[in-house]
This record gives sequence, structure tokens and C-alpha cells, in this order.
Amino acid sequence: MTNLINREIDTENMPDKKGYFGEYGGSFVPEALQRVMDEVAAAYEEISQDPSFLAELRELNETYTGRPSPVYHAKRLTAAVGGADIYLKREDLNHTGAHKINHALGEVLLAKRMGKKKVIAETGAGQHGVALATAAALLGLDCDIYMGAVDVRKEAPNVSRMKILGARVIPVTSGTATLKDAVDAAFKAYLNDPVTQIYCIGSVVGPHPFPEMVRDFQSVIGIEAREQMLSMSGRLPDAVIACVGGGSNAMGIFSAFLDDKDVAIYGVEPAGKGLDTNMNAVRMVRGKKGVLHGFKCYFIQDEKGEALPVYSIASGLDYPGIGPQHCYLHDIKRVRYESATDREAVEAFYALSRMEGIIPALESSHAVAYAVKLAKEIGKGKNILVNLSGRGDKDIDFVMESYPISEYEPEDVVKDGYDEFLSHIQSKGN
Ligand SMILES: *Cc1c(COP(=O)(O)O)cnc(C)c1O
Repeated sequence: MTNLINREIDTENMPDKKGYFGEYGGSFVPEALQRVMDEVAAAYEEISQDPSFLAELRELNETYTGRPSPVYHAKRLTAAVGGADIYLKREDLNHTGAHKINHALGEVLLAKRMGKKKVIAETGAGQHGVALATAAALLGLDCDIYMGAVDVRKEAPNVSRMKILGARVIPVTSGTATLKDAVDAAFKAYLNDPVTQIYCIGSVVGPHPFPEMVRDFQSVIGIEAREQMLSMSGRLPDAVIACVGGGSNAMGIFSAFLDDKDVAIYGVEPAGKGLDTNMNAVRMVRGKKGVLHGFKCYFIQDEKGEALPVYSIASGLDYPGIGPQHCYLHDIKRVRYESATDREAVEAFYALSRMEGIIPALESSHAVAYAVKLAKEIGKGKNILVNLSGRGDKDIDFVMESYPISEYEPEDVVKDGYDEFLSHIQSKGN
């Protein structure tokens, strides 16, 4: 039997008591909020050791989310690429279609055990909001989602989903009326009433204990995948790959392999319109150390230390900062941070759809794109495990409009293999 939550992830047992991963992480919040964070940290410390909490979470994971998610050997993609074998950890098959439900269930269950009546959060494109609204509906808590007014207009289907699930969607009109303003509004609301409600952060970011807690709830991905790879291929994978927005799906799968020094680990950042432009979110390339949203990390900033706008075709990857454990793993060189452009992600999106019948989220497509590159590089006989963090249903309208399907003939994929498919797409320009 595997542990549901892996609390002994790193040989160095990260984070420390104050929430530091090396010099990153910690908690940089006003005093009133610090008291609240201390309360959450203490509650999590206690509850995460409680067998009845772990049993309840395990049962929900199995009977509600549909865990364990399978690992799938992508044979047609592997053959088309002509290199290492590519395996996919199918988080896209979870209820609600992505990994976010893993931490949403954990957070809302924690809230319930703490006696809270309401969970609150910010959301950008609405994915975190929908996952939290789902968990709140399931467990009978109220749910307030703060969302920039601009995003409310752009993301109508997710706004409807949240409302149908019984959440209150609160449009935020201050500032640029986008994610950053939604974060500010949600924190303000939290400070107004930290007793009956609790803030649920949507990735391995924010003040302690969130990077630790969200990682632990996501670690089920890696624990399962490690066993699945051992039973399917008889050994550990040679490489593990995940896309990195805040970094939760990546920490979830990476955590089980950190001590396996022969397993190379790669985080894939969004290179957007290219590394030579400002239209990307490559924090490990362009980021400098500083404090953002209550924790220390690398983030993309101006000379005054203010976060700069960042960009990715995948809204889930478009964040100026990155989780503190990623910063630490980068510095000690345990994880290599690579990147994939918008175009490479769309190519991978089509390739996986055509060759495997799996439409991946544009976020996950970044990991697939890098896997294809690495598979060629390391060659036949090696195994690559990719975390397929979510399904692409949410992205299909956008992709069809911006990268028209008429320009991507399925025959090019099947007949000529991946190289020709890529050069075919590239020759269309876009
Ligand atoms: C939100 C999201 C991401 C990015 O978030 P992480 O915290 O970096 O995992 C990646 N993939 C999907 C499908 C998402 O919804």
C-alpha cells in the first residue's frame, strides 16, 4: 500500500518549519494574515497525520475523482517520433478533467475539518475556481470565487460552471480587472473574516503552508506513477517531464522521483512567442529573486521589483512567479527547466490528438512537446514519463480559431510521421 500523502519527499525533508525550501518560500504577509496562516499550518500539520482524514481523502480520490489515473504507453506517438518510449500519466481522466481536483479536495476537506463554512479563492481562466467549486459542492461548503471582470467576460463557460456548482462568482473591477486584482480582492475578503472562511490557493505558491500542502495533495500523482511504471516496464523511467505554471502538477509527479538520482527530471516553462521576446513566462530564464504574493521565488520583474506582465498561449502557465521548491530544485540542479513555445505546444496538441486520440490541455501540450524533443535526443530503449495534467476540451475553440484545422491534414501525421507533420505545420506559417 502506498501512502496517500508523501510527507517524506526529499532526503532533506523540505520545507523547514518556517516553510523554506533553501532560501525560497517562507511567509511574507501582514501580521493579521500571518496569524491566520499559522492557524492553517498547525491544522494541516495535525490533520495530515490523522488516519481518518487520510482515509476520507483516499476514498474521495478513488470513488469521486477516479484515482488511480492510468499510465498509458503512447505507442503511435513513440513510433512516429522514433526515439524513447513515451508514457503518459493520465490526469486528464480525473473528474473535472485535470489535476487541480487533487488539491481542491484536500483543501476543502481540511477547511471542513477546521470547522470553516466557506472556501474562497481567486481564479484567472477559471480552472482553479471550477475545481474548488466542485469540491465545495461535494463537501457542502459555501464557495466565493474572486475573478477579474475582464476574465469573467472572457471565460464565460467556466463562470457558468462555477455558478451551476453553487459558487458565488465575484467580479473584481479594480486595477486591470484581471488575476492580480482578483488575488488582492480575495486576500482582502479573507482578512475581513478569517474565522468562518479559508483561502484556498490553487498551486504550490503563496505563503507557507500552501506550497507544502498543495504539493502533498498532488504527490498522489507521482506515488501512483512510480508504481505503475515499475509494473509496466519493470524499471523506473529515465526521464520525468511536466509543465510548470505555479508548479503543482509538476511537484506532484516529481516528488516521488527526487531521490532516484538516475531519473532525470524536467520542468517545462512556457516560451510563448519565443525566448527572444517578452511574450513568455520563463521564470527560470528571466526571473530574479524576490518576494511575490507572500513568498520568495524567482519572478519576472522590473527594476523596481514589481511583477511584469507575462504571457503564454496556455492561461494556466501564465504566472510571473514559480513555486519555491522549483526554485530550490533549479538551484541544486536536481530538476532541469526547459521550455516550449506556443507553436510547439500547438503542434504537440494536434500530434497527440491525431496519433493517440487524446486531446491534451494546452498547458500539458508544453510537456508533450518537450517529451518529443527529448525522446529523439535520448533515443530508443529509454522511457519517458510525461504528466498529462489535463484535457483540452477547454482549449478547442481557441485552437480552431487561431490555428485552423484546415491547415493540418491528418494524413501528414499518419503517413509521414512526426517530423514531416511538424515541418508541414511550420511551412504554413502562423
Ligand atoms: C492550472 C493548470 C496547470 C498549471 O498549474 P500548475 O500548478 O503548474 O500545475 C497545468 N495544466 C493544467 C491542465 C491546468 O489546469
